Amino acid sequence: MNFLNIKKIFSKKIITLLPLSFFLASPSYSEIVDMNDSESLVQTIIDEASKTMGKLVNAKKVRWYWCDTPPAYYPTKNLICLNKKDKGLSLAFTTAHEYSHHVQHSLYSLKDRAKKNITKVELQADCFAGIILSSIPKITFNPNDADEMIAKVYYHYGDQEYDHEDHHGSGENRALALRSGLRFGASKGKFKDAYYKIFCTGDGDK
Ligand SMILES: [Zn+2]
Repeated sequence: MNFLNIKKIFSKKIITLLPLSFFLASPSYSEIVDMNDSESLVQTIIDEASKTMGKLVNAKKVRWYWCDTPPAYYPTKNLICLNKKDKGLSLAFTTAHEYSHHVQHSLYSLKDRAKKNITKVELQADCFAGIILSSIPKITFNPNDADEMIAKVYYHYGDQEYDHEDHHGSGENRALALRSGLRFGASKGKFKDAYYKIFCTGDGDK
């Protein structure tokens, strides 16, 4: 299957399947997650992400651990490392962002991933993170959280080398991508803002 077909199928999946299978769970307010309890915050996000977006792409079970380095996803091990200095919103965001790489890994073959531009992959992961976070019934995130999430992570891990080949995208674009995902999820898959197509489907050059 060529790359274009895969992208088409993925876009179709996001557009048609997400509203059906992704958003049917009715919110349960019986368990409210304490944003200051980092351990349970991470576990809740990973559990919920695997029930929604992870399930959609048949992602394998992922494990995570605390590390002192910047957060990372290790595809061959299905492993995520999260920095214990991240708390609250920035921890929620980095967890969802790294899980989004797991979604991408499950979605695209190695060959297709190699063809993709790193900045586009990262911005798509930011958008997916927004969809994951806004689809967790136990926690409410809103589009205004995007700026704070990105600001903390962006300045903390320093990704301001715009001409570096591994550049993750400007802070402005990252916030737009994340906000677009948060809006899409919050509207239960109904609302796609102007940036959804640019960042979320990965067609950044269109
Ligand atoms: Zn990333």
